[in-house]
Amino acid sequence: MTVGGKDVHTVDTFGVHNPATGRVFAQAPDCSPAQLDDAVQAAADAFPLWRDDMDARRSALLAAAARIEESAEELATLLTLEQGKPLADAQFEVMVTAMTLRGTAALDVPREVIRDDDEERIEVLHQPMGVVAAITPWNVPLIQAAMKFAPALLAGNTVVLKPSPFTPLSSLALGVVLRDVLPPGVLNVISGRDPLGAQLAEHSLVRKVTFTGSVATGKHVAASAAPDLKRITLELGGNDAGILLDDVDLDAMADKLFWGAFVNCGQICMALKRLYVPRARYTEVVDALADRARSVQVGDGMLPGVQMGPLATTPQFARVQELVSDALAGGATAAAGGRRLDGDGYFFAPTILRDLEDGVRVVDEEQFGPVLPVIPYDDVEEAVARANSTHFGLDGSVWSADPERAAAVAARLECGTSWVNTHGMPAPGVSFSGHKWSGLGVAGGLAGLLSYTETKVLHIVRG
Ligand code: NAD
Repeated sequence: MTVGGKDVHTVDTFGVHNPATGRVFAQAPDCSPAQLDDAVQAAADAFPLWRDDMDARRSALLAAAARIEESAEELATLLTLEQGKPLADAQFEVMVTAMTLRGTAALDVPREVIRDDDEERIEVLHQPMGVVAAITPWNVPLIQAAMKFAPALLAGNTVVLKPSPFTPLSSLALGVVLRDVLPPGVLNVISGRDPLGAQLAEHSLVRKVTFTGSVATGKHVAASAAPDLKRITLELGGNDAGILLDDVDLDAMADKLFWGAFVNCGQICMALKRLYVPRARYTEVVDALADRARSVQVGDGMLPGVQMGPLATTPQFARVQELVSDALAGGATAAAGGRRLDGDGYFFAPTILRDLEDGVRVVDEEQFGPVLPVIPYDDVEEAVARANSTHFGLDGSVWSADPERAAAVAARLECGTSWVNTHGMPAPGVSFSGHKWSGLGVAGGLAGLLSYTETKVLHIVRG
């Protein structure tokens, strides 16, 4: 672990599985309560110096981006081994991690002058909060980490990062490679099982918790932050709906639709998770997606040519099997896939489900796996109502040969981001947020940066 810029070992460890083999391939440090205190204290001690020099922070983030790129091979390999994604995707993740640092370093914390005359000057400042706890999930661990620590650090805070116990190694390695480009204590990286997340979130020296993960855990974090009125940002689950309009050009869109759902083996919060299709085009759309599902090369992410790895964790593997079995038992048909693949790893065949409606669990719940239910509709109003009739509100998309027509429908989806003719494509510098149970607060862009600050008014009366 990295605490106060130093290498810290633990007495206890826990096993990390390679999802492609199902076997433990490494041991990760299991942070003790005393070591957690040390990490938070190290961040608190580093704060007074770090908070004052914006230029130094910007330079440090740029140096960190360069260091991440230099370490790309090591980071990407660990990521594939612990998370399962194909090595090329892991390399892409490392690149996006570095880009996130660079994009954040290009932002400025604004200083707004409301009044400045002979009598008085009134300014609005945005000041750092202190120690930020960053708690991340296992799907894109490095990007998740960077989305949190880069804006937190640029705003002048210091950070304790705790990755998921399923994928701790790449984040721990990140802490190591950044040790000599960030001052000691500015970014601490610890690992442990789920209770460590709760202990970190509740720690008395933590002023803000930035959390990405499940809705259930997000609610725990919100409840545990309340007694101390800690600031929180929650990025939680989604059940993103896509709506095809009747004029959609399937030849042009089918690949984008498919990968909008199946990127990272479907384990992306902003993946397409249910698709509503006009009844007249239902079979054609199902067939086009099923063709693509059958052609995907699934396998160990370390092997060349593999396009999709296994699911990342055993609980997630079990959940996907359970949701698909439930749908098939209820009368749905697997137009492609529908079953686990042979072998010891957590491999599931890319699956297109047809002949099902809302009310089936795989439609109503977040599957977070390589499964897309395709649901027919008769009228666009009905499709919009069904897309909106959930507790989730992360993203949505509408697909049509007429982008403006689609945009009018997309604007009515109750979610943080609506796309037209694409899905799950965050743009650099653009903020995103989840409506309803999909989150609280904003990440990315200027709004995301400001979420790591407290607003302060400086009011000077002259003479
Ligand atoms: P999870 O909620 O189980 O765990 C997330 C993190 O929280 C882990 O680091 C875990 O150790 C920690 N944790 C567990 N219990 C805790 C507690 N009581 N207090 C504090 N921390 C605790 O989620 P997961 O299974 O790792 O991730 C999958 C979920 O994340 C999916 O629902 C997915 O939609 C969501 N997700 C959301 C986004 C987004 O930006 N909205 C992005 C990626 C994933």
